[in-house]
Amino acid sequence: MKPKTKKIIITLSAFFVVSTVIVTAVVLKNLNGNNVNGDGTFDPGDRYESTLMDYMGVVYDDRNDIYTFTGGYSETAACPWGAVHPGIDYALLNDSTVIAAVPGQVIDIMVQDYGESAENRFMIHVVIRFNLSLTVDYAFEPWTNITANKDHQVELLDIEEGDWVQKGDKIATFLKAGISAHIHFMVHENNVIQCPHKYLGAADYTELMEMIHSFQPTWDLCYH
Ligand SMILES: [Zn+2]
Repeated sequence: MKPKTKKIIITLSAFFVVSTVIVTAVVLKNLNGNNVNGDGTFDPGDRYESTLMDYMGVVYDDRNDIYTFTGGYSETAACPWGAVHPGIDYALLNDSTVIAAVPGQVIDIMVQDYGESAENRFMIHVVIRFNLSLTVDYAFEPWTNITANKDHQVELLDIEEGDWVQKGDKIATFLKAGISAHIHFMVHENNVIQCPHKYLGAADYTELMEMIHSFQPTWDLCYH
């Protein structure tokens, strides 16, 4: 082996070792970031019953805080709002209280920025893990282009990553900065966004449908 070739091989070997360390570190960070332990478990202890989610609630504590309803969950454009829409839009008045729909641990708070030219520029995500397979994702859309408004909504969050919440706990005050502000609410099971219906408690489903029908008397929650 020529010295030069040997040097290249050593360099390549070092590169792969470093790469492996980096990749491993990233994977571990992601697992920890999702509060799934290294052995793939997630244990809320005796905080709540985590086997089955069939007692999900709504995200508001006062129905009067909802100012309109324009979109539920749809996998098809053949629905009243005419578009595929993976989530439920809770259109909240300014200063409304936002509550936890499920108990769990806050595993991620993250801001998406769609760029300076976007009218609805920011989505502030709050993700709560209920168990190993189920998370809920609140996407706060204050409907603004102004960075200070985004920062204000972040300041109005009452939770931090790592916090545990019970169903009904206040997690935020809502900032309605623009005309179409709302929370786009998603339920993920095994990383697929689902219709929330089967997870809702009976009284919670009744409450949600009464709210929807107060604005849209004939609409369903989900269209498949
Ligand atoms: Zn939406």
